[in-house]
Amino acid sequence: MNASELRLAEISDRTEGEKRDDWHSDPPDSCDYCQKSMSDSVFFVDGKVRDSIQWANMCPDCFFVYGEAVRWGAGQLYQQVDPNEWLMVAGFPPDDSDSFA
Ligand SMILES: [Zn+2]
Repeated sequence: MNASELRLAEISDRTEGEKRDDWHSDPPDSCDYCQKSMSDSVFFVDGKVRDSIQWANMCPDCFFVYGEAVRWGAGQLYQQVDPNEWLMVAGFPPDDSDSFA
């Protein structure tokens, strides 16, 4: 992994991701910024562009340049578990089942 991927690995929670079992339904072929193929990447962020209302699919390097954050409402982090199979591993939605506990 490169430096950007290592930084994302630190905030990823594979255990929680597997519990939630939330897979990206339509993963991108390439990064919206550098056009790098996602097939070689461990992570990508589907997230908000900093100082913008737009969202983008960003490879790890581009996320740290253009992305805002990984959290609900700002960006979701996906990890490639199998070829073109991407599991959400951070930026989870709020757990509604806790609201009525
Ligand atoms: Zn990129």
